[in-house]
Amino acid sequence: MTKTNAIFDGIILGTGHNALILQAYLSRCGLKTLSMDRAPIPGGGLMTLENPRLPGFRHNPHSFFHRALTAMPWFRDLELERHGVRYLEPKLNVAMILRDGRALEWWTDLDRTVASCAEFSPRDADTLRRFAEEFRPIVEKILRPEAQSPPLEPGLRRRLLERSALGQRLLEISALSPLEFVTRHFENDIVRAGLLFFNGLREVDLRLKGFGHSIPALLASRHMAQMAVGGTASLAHGLVNDITQHGGELRCGIELRRILVRDGRATGIELATGEQIHASGFVASGLNPQQTFLDLMTPEAVPAAVREQAAQFQYNVLAPLFGLHLALDEPPRYAAAALHPELNEAFIVLVGLERFGQFHEIVAAHERGEIPPPVAWGACPTLFDSSQAPPGNHTAFLWEKLPYALRGDPSNWVRAKDAHGVRLLKLWRELAPNLGHGIIRDQFVFSPADTETTLPNMRRGDLLVGSFANNQVGYDRPFAGAGCYRTPVPGLYLCGGSTHPGGNITGLCGYNAARVIAADLGKAIWWNPPHAEASLAGL
Ligand SMILES: Cc1cc2nc3c(=O)[nH]c(=O)nc-3n(C[C@H](O)[C@H](O)[C@H](O)COP(=O)(O)OP(=O)(O)OC[C@H]3O[C@@H](n4cnc5c(N)ncnc54)[C@H](O)[C@@H]3O)c2cc1C
Repeated sequence: MTKTNAIFDGIILGTGHNALILQAYLSRCGLKTLSMDRAPIPGGGLMTLENPRLPGFRHNPHSFFHRALTAMPWFRDLELERHGVRYLEPKLNVAMILRDGRALEWWTDLDRTVASCAEFSPRDADTLRRFAEEFRPIVEKILRPEAQSPPLEPGLRRRLLERSALGQRLLEISALSPLEFVTRHFENDIVRAGLLFFNGLREVDLRLKGFGHSIPALLASRHMAQMAVGGTASLAHGLVNDITQHGGELRCGIELRRILVRDGRATGIELATGEQIHASGFVASGLNPQQTFLDLMTPEAVPAAVREQAAQFQYNVLAPLFGLHLALDEPPRYAAAALHPELNEAFIVLVGLERFGQFHEIVAAHERGEIPPPVAWGACPTLFDSSQAPPGNHTAFLWEKLPYALRGDPSNWVRAKDAHGVRLLKLWRELAPNLGHGIIRDQFVFSPADTETTLPNMRRGDLLVGSFANNQVGYDRPFAGAGCYRTPVPGLYLCGGSTHPGGNITGLCGYNAARVIAADLGKAIWWNPPHAEASLAGL
């Protein structure tokens, strides 16, 4: 039987970090908000699980490396440190370990990165420094304000950028693909491979024109990969604390049936139980466009053209990950540390990548639905944060980019995943021989198909919740007409990774959506967001 529940100012679908950030900002505006999720706990990709077989070992099956999180405006605005959220940024941030004992290293200190690069190619080391320095003002004056604002209309953006030397340089470099950028500007095979893969960790399709700036922008960034003390979920806990302290509510473990639409306007949500919950101001979806416009809305409620655009929303072929997680008696010890002792303190470790050409082999294997020779990256979180395992013990993991539809069918992962975990461990052991000496207490794997099962918004295992191809970028992400968080259905907004600036733990989709929704509801913006148009106009 249908019953009508309390009325909220706003209802938010999903409790991924973008949805939580949106809810936190709007709760602080004085709005009465409710977020809802099918999962038993909030946080989406902010998940930390205690090992059921080995209490005290904590694993992070989804996101772990949170880039420059503490520099995000919402981290400060929502007082997350006061809520107990703490991040570490290890100095040897990324190390690409080669079988011959050499290593290419990215440090938080640019000079040390340049010195490591110079061991492979002094010319590339100079180029790397030149781009890092040249792109600092581009990142600070253009790319950062753009990511932290609702996207600009592309014609206006181009006109503004063309007026300044910085803007013109950005347009020139971004016209390339990351692949073209690397081959045009760097000569050494290892440096090229490392740059491409290191930056590919952000999952931009490296063949895509329009993203040539992504590598120099990462080189120029003042912050690198960070990790949350206590595990990834501690960020979710901090956000939930802030929401509840400001009167927001959350409901987890529920099944949504449909978004309610009355007189063409989104007015609430109906649950699978028949319960209807109404919103007087807005409904915001942190889910993907197919879920939002096709699964949760009746055809009559959505213009046919919008249904068509939602149906055509595409996902990244190269983003799905396979994860191997270990509970250990000691951390992995790399043989290459004999030459480079600092490697035993490296944060992100990249293994199996020895040649630039492997990138093409990985892409080709993905397109065929096959498993390429392993290239993987991961970390040993307990080297930096002992709270994630019992005293003296450790956890470690490796991720590998692998196809979602293995041999054409994701269900093939059920049979293949354990065997593949063994194969991946073999590669790891070649570089860290102690992993073969009885120190592994437990191991388990997650396949790309498991990602979609746990987080169905990551369709086809796409952790970015949508490709940047198919023109799904900026003002047109997820599609033209829904790119500024508003949708063609009045009262209905989008706020997840399928919107600008895209997936990963940046929180900026939710941060930007909060500004748009608050303005539409006539609420004062209590925070001080950047304004991309003013930044670009002032170049
Ligand atoms: C293996 C893996 C490793 C990753 N590593 C990193 C990393 O190191 N760094 C990084 O920055 N990013 C990483 N990511 C990506 C990152 O987790 C995502 O891009 C990010 O979580 C997307 O955030 P979101 O707010 O859009 O939604 P999500 O975090 O995806 O949350 C969406 C929420 O919606 C809920 N939901 C879905 N469908 C429904 C429904 N029908 N009804 C109700 N609720 C629903 C889900 O339960 C979930 O809680 C990784 C992802 C994976 C899978």
